[in-house]
Amino acid sequence: MAEELDEMYRDIIMEHYRYPRGHEKILNPDIINEGHNPVCGDEIEIKLKMDKDKIETVSVNCAGCAISTASGSMLAEICEGKTIAEVKKIAAIVKALLKGEEFDENIEIGDIEALQGVKKFPVRVKCALLSWTTLVDAINTRETGATEKRLTASTTES
Ligand code: ZN
Repeated sequence: MAEELDEMYRDIIMEHYRYPRGHEKILNPDIINEGHNPVCGDEIEIKLKMDKDKIETVSVNCAGCAISTASGSMLAEICEGKTIAEVKKIAAIVKALLKGEEFDENIEIGDIEALQGVKKFPVRVKCALLSWTTLVDAINTRETGATEKRLTASTTES
């Protein structure tokens, strides 16, 4: 699959796949969630250490294909130091980008731009969205006041 991507996008994706970011150990995460993409078999675990409304550290553990791993790595890279509101905005951009929809181009998204190479492969869009769906689910659950730290696994099916 990766070899079918446009060269420019592929290089960025493969670089994240080989050297994924977000491998810091977080001992007492404030937010933790797991995601699963049954279509491809990708599994991901995201842990966040918060400083009030800001994400201080991100830990992403992904066992999956190149696309899901690279996307999780990009998530770790861009979300560190961002507020929940900023992260939600970026997650919405990722979704729009993968669906070929319009998005706010004034927001800096860095390497995430390379994910638009994936939109040509609908079945792989779920791989690219997995980490983002998992993160947003976790944030939403926290905001609705759930005290449960370990959530049930979410999928990208919904
Ligand atoms: Zn995958």
